[in-house]
Amino acid sequence: MGATIQTGLRDYLRLLASGKVREIYELDDTKLLFVATDRISAYDIVMKNAIDQKGAILTQLSDFWFNLLQSRMPGLRTHYISLGLPLTLQERLPPDMVEQLRLRTMVVKRLRVLPIESIVRGFITGSAWSSYQKDGTVCGIPLPSGLKESQKLQRPLWTPSTKAELGSKDENISPEQAAKIIGKEYADQIKALSLNIYEEASAYALERGIIIADTKFEFGLDESASPAAVVLLDEVLTPDSSRFWNVGTYQIGRGQESYDKQYLRDWLAQSGLKGKQGVEMPTDISTNTLERYKEAYYVLVGKVWDMATSEAP
Ligand code: ATP
Ligand code: MG
Repeated sequence: MGATIQTGLRDYLRLLASGKVREIYELDDTKLLFVATDRISAYDIVMKNAIDQKGAILTQLSDFWFNLLQSRMPGLRTHYISLGLPLTLQERLPPDMVEQLRLRTMVVKRLRVLPIESIVRGFITGSAWSSYQKDGTVCGIPLPSGLKESQKLQRPLWTPSTKAELGSKDENISPEQAAKIIGKEYADQIKALSLNIYEEASAYALERGIIIADTKFEFGLDESASPAAVVLLDEVLTPDSSRFWNVGTYQIGRGQESYDKQYLRDWLAQSGLKGKQGVEMPTDISTNTLERYKEAYYVLVGKVWDMATSEAP
């Protein structure tokens, strides 16, 4: 069928937002349809071409994690309602659109998004490594001297960032700045939740051979609860939102072989295309990126990724 850059759903539902990767539609006052396209972004810029199957892998992996987290953390609130299309909607859509949407949609609770990104880092890499090299801190938090690239931190760090509008870049901020943006109470809750989720998820992943070096969560508020409750939303623990490293080849003091967008980021940097708009990925880059996403799915879920035989709706 080819990669999906955009779906035709806007002819059937009200499109509320289109992010770098997802389309978000209104189902009713309380529910949204969350649709992952095959678009891919790096350094906050969306590539010109898309990667077939990527959206489906992201949706299925998020589904896997929502279920796993819910079973291990019974008190955790998430936006997850169900996988796939609501039947009443599916019946109204042409068959080729149902096929295009297969495996890439999820029904979620409609919530007010809290405007910060909640990043947890267990290992020092990426923008945190650059910041540490400059002045020994990450998000204003001082770290011990002598850390090496990709080294495991003594304990996971909570390093929030702003949630930038489409087209601009998220900026790392201090926990105090995060508290100013969303209020100290919510910032404290999000920090604790993020660290707990990271701990659960990284213990699970490590047993299977993946190090979750860092990951980004987003939270929202369920204002129908009283008092309003903090809820985990968006995608969770995917190769788009996390750095996944192979435990077998992990070595401190250098960059790591990873199952995520790092491969694409490295290619962009090496070819002088970092930060450029409208970049078209050559076939080997998109194919190799897809292979990494499939491998992450296989290692984490324990099933070979297969579009054709996946049972999920
Ligand atoms: P990136 O993930 O690369 O930062 P993005 O932030 O543009 O990209 P997408 O993943 O394309 O986001 O789209 C998801 C958007 O939907 C995000 O802005 C996120 O905050 C929002 N969102 C996620 N879950 C919900 C929800 N339950 N209710 C309302 N908005 C949501
Ligand atoms: Mg996102």
